[in-house]
Amino acid sequence: MDIALSPRERDLAARARALCDEVLVPLELVTDEHGELPEEKRAGIRQAVRDRGFAGLNHSKADGGCGFTMLEQAVIEEQLGRATNGLWSCVWRPPVSLKFGTAAQKRDYLLPSIQGERRGCFAITEPGAGSDPRQVATRADLRDGVWYLSGEKWFVTSYNASDFIIVHAHVGGDPDKPTLFLVDKPSPGLTHLRSPKFMHNFAFDHAELRLAEVPVPAEGMLGEIGQGFELTKDWFVEARLQIAAHTLGAAVRAAEVANDYAAGRVQFGKPIRDFQAIEFMLADMAVEIFAAKSMLYRVAAEIDGGLDRKRVHAHASALKLHCSEMAGRVIDKAVQILGGRGYMRENPVERLFRDIRVDRIWEGTSEIQRAVIGGQIRKRGLEVYSGW
Ligand SMILES: Cc1cc2nc3c(=O)[nH]c(=O)nc-3n(C[C@H](O)[C@H](O)[C@H](O)COP(=O)(O)OP(=O)(O)OC[C@H]3O[C@@H](n4cnc5c(N)ncnc54)[C@H](O)[C@@H]3O)c2cc1C
Repeated sequence: MDIALSPRERDLAARARALCDEVLVPLELVTDEHGELPEEKRAGIRQAVRDRGFAGLNHSKADGGCGFTMLEQAVIEEQLGRATNGLWSCVWRPPVSLKFGTAAQKRDYLLPSIQGERRGCFAITEPGAGSDPRQVATRADLRDGVWYLSGEKWFVTSYNASDFIIVHAHVGGDPDKPTLFLVDKPSPGLTHLRSPKFMHNFAFDHAELRLAEVPVPAEGMLGEIGQGFELTKDWFVEARLQIAAHTLGAAVRAAEVANDYAAGRVQFGKPIRDFQAIEFMLADMAVEIFAAKSMLYRVAAEIDGGLDRKRVHAHASALKLHCSEMAGRVIDKAVQILGGRGYMRENPVERLFRDIRVDRIWEGTSEIQRAVIGGQIRKRGLEVYSGW
């Protein structure tokens, strides 16, 4: 079993770390204070991402992307996850479902998205449909060769940085016909209702939208009628891996800050790391990180090795659950070790504390991941997780 990273993987991690430290980290405080990344900063980041070879990092060379393996993506995302305020999202990852598009859709949406000239956001969640997407009420009706979309979408991340939306709707209102549509911005009948404030101050917004008979030409349907979930399945795996990598990177940064602070902060005549209470917290943080990192690299390598799709889904759920919860525990300890300074917004551990809370909610809540894992154990036995 070879568990060492290759020189190429190490080089990619170093380059991603440099992108994070030199381009993203300097924008953390302004993003936190402004509530989102100031618009005038976006073009500079886009250019840096292109110049440093990370444009389209989740797509194949054949489609114009970087052609990175999953393990390469994991080591890159881990480094980007060190940035607070969701600034990792400035390094775009065009929706995976676009790779199943027609040649024209790839030319008009995927390729320019890979090149950073267009950006798409993804709208599935609604007021009545969160963990249970069969409750989606947005419908698509075909009349005279044109689709008309009507409904309301919530939490649409990066809407303000996007120029098209992939909308998940039910054809004819039938939950057995979940289907994806490419909706350009602006479109008649598409209204931005509001972009509420959230616990984190994320680089981009999370918008609420209304679609009132929004016309979409027949060529704007992505895949076939009823393929809505099929086309996003790969994306679920990729998104769960990304979250695992980001939360790992966030936990590592918080642990580093706490470790340095514990060495330098003197109370009662000695550095606080000399108190066993503090040292044991650092020890627990290190062990948590060690376990999560081992799990992330393993699952990424399994995907590259061609593990069958069902097992990949089972493992990706466990990975997302473990890493997102691990980061919560580690970053909470980092705040504690820094005492009052850990509670100050100017301190990265405070921002990371707010940032990573959502990782237990989006892309499938922790409860939904546990339900998936429980279902896998019931169907295939514990050996899905233990028999290797
Ligand atoms: C900041 C942010 C950004 C987001 N970005 C996007 C986006 O870009 N596009 C998009 O479409 N969506 C997005 N979402 C939506 C996100 O995916 C949903 O919030 C998530 O799927 C949960 O849905 P919900 O909020 O409706 O909670 P609900 O599904 O109502 O769940 C509420 C609670 O009930 C629990 N629960 C639900 N069902 C079960 C069950 N079967 N068993 C046990 N417990 C259960 C949940 O775990 C949770 O604790 C975003 C959300 C946030 C907060």
